[in-house]
Amino acid sequence: MTLLLGCIADDFTGATDLANNLVRAGMRVVQTIGVPSAPLAADVDAVVVALKSRTIAPAQAVAQSLEALRRLQGEGARQIYFKYCSTFDSTPAGNIGPVSEALMDAMGCDFTIATPAFPDNKRTVFKGYLFAGEVLLNESGMQNHPLTPMTDPNLVRVLQAQTRRKVGLIDHAVVARGPEAIRERIGALRAEGVGIAIVDAVSNDDLLRLGPALADMPLVTAGSGVAIGLPANFGIAPSAGASALPVAGGLRAVVSGSCSLATNRQVRHFIESGRPALAIDPLGIAEGVDVAAEALAWAAPLIEDGPVLVYSTAASGAVQSVQRRLGVEEAGAMVERTMAAIARGLVAQGVRQLVVAGGETSGACVQALGIGQLQIGAQIDPGVPWCHAQVEGGAGLHIALKSGNFGTDDFFTKAFTLLE
Ligand code: ADP
Repeated sequence: MTLLLGCIADDFTGATDLANNLVRAGMRVVQTIGVPSAPLAADVDAVVVALKSRTIAPAQAVAQSLEALRRLQGEGARQIYFKYCSTFDSTPAGNIGPVSEALMDAMGCDFTIATPAFPDNKRTVFKGYLFAGEVLLNESGMQNHPLTPMTDPNLVRVLQAQTRRKVGLIDHAVVARGPEAIRERIGALRAEGVGIAIVDAVSNDDLLRLGPALADMPLVTAGSGVAIGLPANFGIAPSAGASALPVAGGLRAVVSGSCSLATNRQVRHFIESGRPALAIDPLGIAEGVDVAAEALAWAAPLIEDGPVLVYSTAASGAVQSVQRRLGVEEAGAMVERTMAAIARGLVAQGVRQLVVAGGETSGACVQALGIGQLQIGAQIDPGVPWCHAQVEGGAGLHIALKSGNFGTDDFFTKAFTLLE
């Protein structure tokens, strides 16, 4: 195996987002949950190691990222990609700066770029300022994020506060002129002692112009957007083969623990389409009822006839009332454990096509199913591909992990149709 791109992502659904973009650009991609201990699947162009390092202490994030780097270097990765969020989610202490710097030190490189630009998702960078949709980052709601409030939209300043390396800018006037101009600008910044340059990009064309200029850069740091311009550097073009997964079979189910507006619509749509659906009562779990066993008993006679849905998804009023009774974290953890047990039980009943809704819920289900690696397949909706994994006992499972606000209203039915 020649591993072309070795990627380190600072969270789980962000890793899938990057993997999805690489597959669409023609790479065969495996995503691993944490630094893999098992041998990697053969015949892949890129590996995305999913960490959970976005908001942990900088020293820990650095240590985990370096462990991932060593593993990817051990696989012969020709280029390393550090992936963070397209809203540059970071605490004042890090971790984008500290991790970038540690990777540079470990790789002995004196220059890299940084850009969260992802125009497909309305994240654009202009003169170093990050826009989310029509507004600056600090007016987008991100200024109120509970863990990573982003109050300064100027990425040069934000990153400079997190790193000892000098931070510079490759602005849009340069990017618009193409790869040669970008290379020249990189040379000039290097000569000025700049170690990391924020790069402007307001369109996919900008990212595709940036790609060739990064061909010889050992380390790239970015959101998932830059990935669309890299596979061509390795002679790879988009192809249907990149997203090919084993043929799907077995029973079908959806487990939904997300309470986002989009997921609420998707649950309603599934029910209105006449498919069987069971709501989970968090207060029942708290009272000691074996809710998972009840749900599995409910599903058993129905599931032979087509997909079933088990959901804790509820509107915000109901969720808040449960949270007031049980505590926010306690309610979340309890529901996650139950949904994970249900996912496990459904797979034991013969489910081989499973949709999971919710970022944290996905993490819990993947863990309960003992999944270490996901082969990335075709996109269902932006940011959500079908994946294939080996579960305990060696069976193959098609699994889609949908983070809260992704997907059209008919996602839960559409997903299965796509596998046919
Ligand atoms: P999203 O991707 O939409 O944020 P997550 O799965 O990441 O979804 O987060 C949803 C959280 O809400 C999880 O911790 C889940 O266990 C919890 N949860 C789900 N349903 C309920 C409910 N009915 N009441 C309280 N908490 C819930």
